[in-house]
Amino acid sequence: MRRVAVVGMFLESNNFARPVPERGFRNFVHLEGDEISGDARSAHPRAMLELAGFYRRMDELGGWEPVPIIVTMSGGGPAEHDWFDEVLGRSVAALREAGPLDAVYLCNHGAMTTTATDDGDGVFFAGVREAVGPQVPIVATLDPHGNVSDLMLESIDLVVAYLTDPHVDQVERGVEAADLLHERWAGMEPAMVWTRLPIVAPNVSLFTDAGPFAELIDRGIELRDDTIANISILGGFAFSDTSKNGLIVIVTGRGDDVGARRVAGELADLAWRNRHRFDTDAMPLPEAVERAVACGRDDALAPIVLSDLGDNTGAGGPTNTLWMLEAMHGAGARGVLIVNFRDRRVVEAATVAGVDATFTATFRGDDWQRGDDTTFEAEARVIALHEGPFVGRRGIVAGKTLECGPMALLELDGVRVIVTSRAAVGNDPIYAEVLGVDLSTVRTIVVKVRSSFPPAYDEFVDHVDMFFVDTPGRTSPVLSRLPFERLPRPVLPLDDDVAWENPFADAI
Ligand SMILES: [Zn+2]
Repeated sequence: MRRVAVVGMFLESNNFARPVPERGFRNFVHLEGDEISGDARSAHPRAMLELAGFYRRMDELGGWEPVPIIVTMSGGGPAEHDWFDEVLGRSVAALREAGPLDAVYLCNHGAMTTTATDDGDGVFFAGVREAVGPQVPIVATLDPHGNVSDLMLESIDLVVAYLTDPHVDQVERGVEAADLLHERWAGMEPAMVWTRLPIVAPNVSLFTDAGPFAELIDRGIELRDDTIANISILGGFAFSDTSKNGLIVIVTGRGDDVGARRVAGELADLAWRNRHRFDTDAMPLPEAVERAVACGRDDALAPIVLSDLGDNTGAGGPTNTLWMLEAMHGAGARGVLIVNFRDRRVVEAATVAGVDATFTATFRGDDWQRGDDTTFEAEARVIALHEGPFVGRRGIVAGKTLECGPMALLELDGVRVIVTSRAAVGNDPIYAEVLGVDLSTVRTIVVKVRSSFPPAYDEFVDHVDMFFVDTPGRTSPVLSRLPFERLPRPVLPLDDDVAWENPFADAI
């Protein structure tokens, strides 16, 4: 029996969002010991799906015994450092006490900062390496929005990043990590090379259906051959605002780095040639409101989805900015559904009022660039209430257990709002459906999501009718509006005169 420790601290930190305390993790996903194996092997896991994929493949291949330690996961700002220290400290102690280990599987996001360090994942990975010593293979999976430091890569043997955005290949990447681990055990010596470019890509330029990042990923897939164990390309997460930000190409060779250097060199070259295409294109809010008003008036127009980019839940948006709600309500738009708005007190007030009752709802919103103007009040009718949890139906969370606490569907004239007690990425039609909404009758769906909404809603709205909207917020698509402090400068797209030299030029 090969014994494999499983550890994960999964956080994508937005430095402009509030720090995430222990409670923020425990309320989202926090698993210890056998709970981890139970969740990973369940029909509807709560944790990230690469963990489930890893377990599935390891179980298929057989001859392993998981040594599950801690998997904790949240979204938002930097982790409170005390909690980070506790998770790492307990993981290290458990690894030391675990007895002989044949490997460690690390399932982190890769863009974690803490209130004390901007390289949370690096410190975490290094701590795990120190605990198990230099001989035990460590394989890590990462999200392509991870900001990868040298310390992270120097601490592990193998890395596997998702190849898709929206991230529909999480299970497959977990499977790949398990396969690589078995190859390692069979004697394959990984030889990892990497290069980081001075490109801090806005997240709207990192899709993998089309655009510069898609071309990079596709070229990587073409360049795979027997000498290459893995190609991971990470666009990074600008909002983390770290000194290690930058698009990174990581190639792992089998046995030696000859092929890996050539492939990394070619991919980095392609990224650099396309460097000015990593930019933002979004619709101004007034234009989005105009479209929604028109859609509400004219049934002959196709329904639309609007992505409220300034309040992207998955990227640390608080899921309660008021700009979109106010603008839609103020313009008298009809047939609008906002998925989701986080306000526990509004849900409580709706629950007290009861279904069909009308009450004055006071939405308390984010204060980012709002001064004292942080509330929005309107007469609201309670259409439906739900306690949760439920299982995702469509898109990247299909099959997962979704938990957002008690929720309410309110109607404010022509604008309906799904109000949740906890922040929840509205990337599944199920949020509306459990509240009785027939999405085929909705004219404008507003989501506080950047990436994962098309595979959720494209049975109701065509991709060409889905638009990114330039709204203010902590996840603004226009990077020049954000108060970056730690990014390496100069960097694209914020600066001119950015230079870079390909370290693998001689290998191409
Ligand atoms: Zn991501």
